[in-house]
Amino acid sequence: MTDLPIYTEEHTMFRMIIREFVAAEMTPYVNEWDEAEEFPRGLYRKTGAVGMFGIGFDAEYGGLGHHDAVLLTILAEEVARCAAGGVGASLLSNYIGAPPIQNGGTDDVKGEILPGMLSGDLICALAITEPSGGSDVANLRTTAVRDGDDYIVNGSKTFITSGMRADYVTTAVRTGGPGASGVSLIVIPAPTPGFTRTPLKKMGWWCSDTATLYFDDCRVP
Ligand SMILES: Cc1cc2nc3c(=O)[nH]c(=O)nc-3n(C[C@H](O)[C@H](O)[C@H](O)COP(=O)(O)OP(=O)(O)OC[C@H]3O[C@@H](n4cnc5c(N)ncnc54)[C@H](O)[C@@H]3O)c2cc1C
Repeated sequence: MTDLPIYTEEHTMFRMIIREFVAAEMTPYVNEWDEAEEFPRGLYRKTGAVGMFGIGFDAEYGGLGHHDAVLLTILAEEVARCAAGGVGASLLSNYIGAPPIQNGGTDDVKGEILPGMLSGDLICALAITEPSGGSDVANLRTTAVRDGDDYIVNGSKTFITSGMRADYVTTAVRTGGPGASGVSLIVIPAPTPGFTRTPLKKMGWWCSDTATLYFDDCRVP
């Protein structure tokens, strides 16, 4: 499967780098991490150092400079070789939390978050699902109400991957009326007063960080 015509030399080199990295830095430890229900935060920095976080992010922030779905697929395939799904789930939450920042964030927000995320110093999560349901995003209940230059966020999110450790949570909130058109994304830093979180136990993916998040008059600039 790795010699299909879609693969360029860059793809093959990337695959080999990630394969070696996973074999050395993940596979020997995954049982221990699953039992501990977490993996070391230092794994993010090691992962950033081999360029695993940069696909689809601007070069000025330390990214690859272009999007490549084949590279992302190779990344997912090779991380899966460690044989513990929770590692890839949490480690790669940056790839769901940070693309909205890359695509819609102001230059200031991108400059604040993306370099640290790409180096593995910062962790991003994406918070869409709520205790009332995850499929029906158009009817989500968490609100963000404008107050001067800030937004005041109230509500709750659940099943959030990297929820306990994330430094920035890209959060779906209602800023407008009912339905999908009233939903926006807001980036909530942690810690922020009024933002608390609790870990969730799971049947699988034990070492993946999964949490419920609570926003109680949480003021976000
Ligand atoms: C380990 C784990 C990690 C996760 N990480 C994240 C994360 O990082 N960020 C995040 O935002 N969410 C995350 N989720 C949540 C996930 O996205 C939701 O579980 C998913 O969106 C479904 O939502 P729900 O569980 O509330 O189910 P519900 O929306 O309540 O749906 C329940 C069932 O009803 C079905 N259903 C719903 N609506 C309809 C319909 N209209 N017609 C027919 N069938 C329907 C669904 O298919 C499902 O089988 C995670 C979940 C898990 C288990």
